[in-house]
Amino acid sequence: MADATQARNPPHIIGEDTMANTNPFDDDRLHEECGVFGVYGHAEPAALVALGLHALQHRGQQAAGIVTWDGEQFHAHRGLGQVGENFSSREVIQRLPGLAAIGHCRYATTGEVALRNVQPLFADFEFGGLAICHNGNLTNSYHLRRQLVRRGSLFQSTSDTEVIVHLIATSLKDHVEDRVIDALRQVEGAYSLAALTQNCLIGVRDPLGVRPLVLGRLGEAWVLASESCALDIIGADFERDVEPGEMIIIDGNGLRSRKPFDPERKRICVFEYIYFSRPDSIVDGISVYETRKRIGAELARESHVMADIVIPVPDSGVPAAIGYAAECGLPFELGIIRNHYVGRTFIEPTDQIRHLGVKLKHNVNKAEIAGKRVILVDDSIVRGTTSMKIVEMFRHAGAAEVHMRISSPPTSHSCFYGIATPERQDLLASHMTVEEIAKHIGVDSLAFISIDGLYRAMGEAWRDPAKPRFCDACFTGDYPIPLVDHEAGKVSTQLSLLTETA
Ligand code: AMP
Repeated sequence: MADATQARNPPHIIGEDTMANTNPFDDDRLHEECGVFGVYGHAEPAALVALGLHALQHRGQQAAGIVTWDGEQFHAHRGLGQVGENFSSREVIQRLPGLAAIGHCRYATTGEVALRNVQPLFADFEFGGLAICHNGNLTNSYHLRRQLVRRGSLFQSTSDTEVIVHLIATSLKDHVEDRVIDALRQVEGAYSLAALTQNCLIGVRDPLGVRPLVLGRLGEAWVLASESCALDIIGADFERDVEPGEMIIIDGNGLRSRKPFDPERKRICVFEYIYFSRPDSIVDGISVYETRKRIGAELARESHVMADIVIPVPDSGVPAAIGYAAECGLPFELGIIRNHYVGRTFIEPTDQIRHLGVKLKHNVNKAEIAGKRVILVDDSIVRGTTSMKIVEMFRHAGAAEVHMRISSPPTSHSCFYGIATPERQDLLASHMTVEEIAKHIGVDSLAFISIDGLYRAMGEAWRDPAKPRFCDACFTGDYPIPLVDHEAGKVSTQLSLLTETA
């Protein structure tokens, strides 16, 4: 890889390519769901990153980007849309030569879907170029941004990640690693980062480890990925999780680990297990699939009801429904058939589209339903739109009774650490009791797993309020990282929006 002399010749970034911004629902909220992937020491890093991002596509579908370093210069390709829309052609991959690369797939809740926010972000510094991508959400980014702007920083995007870039730029430390550490000591929030410089690949996980990040090995090459399923797809071996608060530096001399932050107790996001991560991933040593089955079994122990069949709401409700059915001894049936050619409904940003989306996505398998008492198992109720439509379809199909069991506690609080959730008032559980939600979605009975039941399924005796093992703020309102921006009010409206076409 590059030696220090190259740092004196600032590289150029070339090969920017774009798709038009076609999303009409932009506004200025910046909460993101994302996946990151990085490779160091392989002859075809861009191809590997594109494959890795394919496996992480569920973490963000609105934009994707890859930056490579070839020893002399950086190359980048970024675009709106899914990974396959941007990185399927051999030509694109050939325009991204190098020995190291990082990539990102992004979903900005209702945030600005402009090209200027598509990651990896790239900037030239005194020490040379640096590309960076981020999964998570910073909770004091507006606060820091205001300070930086006052001191003369010129922001190019509305992404919270750019705050890290400016903090690196304004750091007085000599070495890039120290500058990154300096920058991260000032930010609050959740971050799993992959960064690429002329000399090294850097991976960092925030001190609480809210978002996952794993390390893998492919021959001599090192790999960083949001989830272990992305290592599997490229045939890489899982090495270990990046630890909360750990910084990994991979360069021509191998791998180094630094622990620059004060140790804190880890609080990985429990929703990664319930819904967000792929079931074939192992997150912090725990299988997502097995966990979901255990939650289903726990749910059956807590709130079983007499019925004929157990039916999952596909796909995310499937493992919990398998666990539920096995525990209560009822047949597990595919009573809802999913159309795999439409995206996730929840991420469609208007109610109108979302309503349509549920119908487009799910159809009831009438032959299995008529005259039966049905237990439907889903992972969560957010706005209730999915449940309401599905219950209506079951009634139409002649179900004798429709009971709903949810493999998470009621989602009563918004996430500020990187999972896209609506404003609190739009979460049904923020203002309705379980009985009211049951009435609202039209079921004969409704039960959510209890928070202690969830912790039991995760291998704990109960949720110890003095030292909970996970971040479960969306269910408890116990936010482990201060919500600096949120508490300061609606500062987000200060950002100007930019619609960009290519
Ligand atoms: P809703 O229809 O608003 O109640 O949303 C609930 C459905 O959305 C469930 O079936 C979940 O599988 C799914 N879901 C929950 N959280 C999210 C999220 N953050 N992003 C996308 N889908 C989600």
